[in-house]
Amino acid sequence: MTELAYLADPPAAYVRAFRARITALPPGAVVLDRTFFYPTGGGQANDRGTLGLPGAEAAEVVDVTKSGASVVHRVRGSTSVLRALSVGAEVEGVLDWDRRYRHMRLHTGQHLLSARIFARTRLRTRKAMMSVTSANLDLEGTLPPDVVPLLAEDLAEALTHPRPVTLRHIPRAEWDRNPYAERSGLVPLPVQVDPVRVVEIEASDVCPCGGTHLRSTGEIGRVRLRPPVPAVGGDRIGFSLEEPSLPTPPG
Ligand SMILES: [Zn+2]
Repeated sequence: MTELAYLADPPAAYVRAFRARITALPPGAVVLDRTFFYPTGGGQANDRGTLGLPGAEAAEVVDVTKSGASVVHRVRGSTSVLRALSVGAEVEGVLDWDRRYRHMRLHTGQHLLSARIFARTRLRTRKAMMSVTSANLDLEGTLPPDVVPLLAEDLAEALTHPRPVTLRHIPRAEWDRNPYAERSGLVPLPVQVDPVRVVEIEASDVCPCGGTHLRSTGEIGRVRLRPPVPAVGGDRIGFSLEEPSLPTPPG
């Protein structure tokens, strides 16, 4: 079992390097007792980076996936680097921060855009996909064209008037009788999820989510909204980051 250390609290999403212990070595891969590498899921792509004995040459982490209760880090490296890894050894993981921070900006931007679409049209998001520098949202219906410029203004306003993004873990029973049943996402919450990890953008959105998010909407940066296009079951609307690489403000 791997502890998903990036989930714990908002600062955990900003951890770029960590120590952990190897618990298993499947062919070409490493399983750790805890990890800050995000495994592909929930529309967010996996992290990349390096993994190796402290102070020694490191293997490259090329893919990260979940397998049951474990996180599998697929690694690539020279024979000597891979042979140095043994069960029980302490290793240092270093995230490709540029890639991860982009994913955090896209993911938080997606929450905000889904919330603003819901607030303005009552249309909910069926599915969200984020990769490289852009995000796509599949909606449950057709977006009225006159709403699109207003959504662009909403995203710009989140930069000029940043809103804090916070995290709470609440018991499932409390979530099920909560006042947030009307939410912007249509993806059902699996029955076994308890407690529920709730991500809140102040005065904008409340959403159960297991991804990595920013501390503030101000960090999303400038985005370019694309016009909606028809997709299965409704429109698809997307946005891209105008500045793919942005410095991370100190926490
Ligand atoms: Zn999320």
